[in-house]
Amino acid sequence: MEIRFEKRDVLKEKPDQKNLGFGKYMTDYMFVMDWTKEEGWKDARIVPYAPITLDPACVTLHYAQETFEGLKAYRTDEGKIQLFRPEMNARRMITSNERLCMPGFPEDMFVEAVKALVKVEQDWVPSEPETSLYIRPFMFATESALGVHMATSYKFMIICCPVGAYYAEGINPVRILVEDELVRAVKGGTGFTKCGGNYAGSILGQVKAEKLGYSQVLWLDGEQRKYVEEVGTMNIMFKIAGEIYTAPIEGTVLAGVTRDSMIHILRDWGYTVNETRLSIDDLMKAGCDGTLEEIFGTGTAAVISPVGELRYREDTVIVNDFKIGELTRKLYDTLTGIQWGKLEDKYGWTVEVK
Ligand SMILES: *Cc1c(COP(=O)(O)O)cnc(C)c1O
Repeated sequence: MEIRFEKRDVLKEKPDQKNLGFGKYMTDYMFVMDWTKEEGWKDARIVPYAPITLDPACVTLHYAQETFEGLKAYRTDEGKIQLFRPEMNARRMITSNERLCMPGFPEDMFVEAVKALVKVEQDWVPSEPETSLYIRPFMFATESALGVHMATSYKFMIICCPVGAYYAEGINPVRILVEDELVRAVKGGTGFTKCGGNYAGSILGQVKAEKLGYSQVLWLDGEQRKYVEEVGTMNIMFKIAGEIYTAPIEGTVLAGVTRDSMIHILRDWGYTVNETRLSIDDLMKAGCDGTLEEIFGTGTAAVISPVGELRYREDTVIVNDFKIGELTRKLYDTLTGIQWGKLEDKYGWTVEVK
């Protein structure tokens, strides 16, 4: 793929690496490529980061034909830059796009585009502990027309931002509210895709949880509101009586790259991982009888997020005395160790950007 490069005259000032937060500072450049029904993908370019103009009738603004991805570039102690399983994000975006009737962006082009942009922005990949460059590929319809239909033109873009440790005060357990009224996804819907619409519909649950002093929502299945599925933008895993439980990938849960990686590592360590439906009643029961040992969310942004408290209707369960669990900690250290190049990458998951 030929990528045109348009240099900017003045580069931005880089933010303080000790105070990056999440998603606040965008880098100097962005990758852009256009798709039309007649010509397919064309005009790959890396251009100065800047606002884009959209026609008010752009279909995305009305019908949310938008999908996205999220991955990171990590700087190793030797100064090298590496990505983590970028081909998984590429494939997942193809899956998302198929569901939304959007054109597929080929896997090799996706990885090439990410690498090319990260290379241009290499000075933006921070080196402070636990920092990284967050990469956000996304695609949306650009056609202007007020009918609901598969659009005739789309844009694929990638933007990046340096990010700090997701939790400024270290990985402390979070308090989670089980949502038993609103739903995030149903079978046959778009729950397994990373599309903007899924998140628009989830904000109300998040607001409700925050009002009650909880930081995240645990979603139950959309049909019976009985089985646990996901937390906000993370998959979730439970350690009960020594075994791991997590919701199966059956159309409502996002197939997280972190989830998949954790399952690999856990099985490698000899753990039984049950990708099976777990009812909220059984989970709360395990919380009461002492067999619920650890709960943690998994996702690229936070890597792993220990859960210290679970509230379901009138019942509250405190997990592991509101402390990060031993296995949660070990998983965090192992995965981040591979990502930042401190541990041997025995699974072949990292891809160097040179
Ligand atoms: C992105 C996301 C995840 C985590 O996926 P990763 O590939 O591990 O980052 C989980 N659930 C939802 C709903 C998500 O949007």
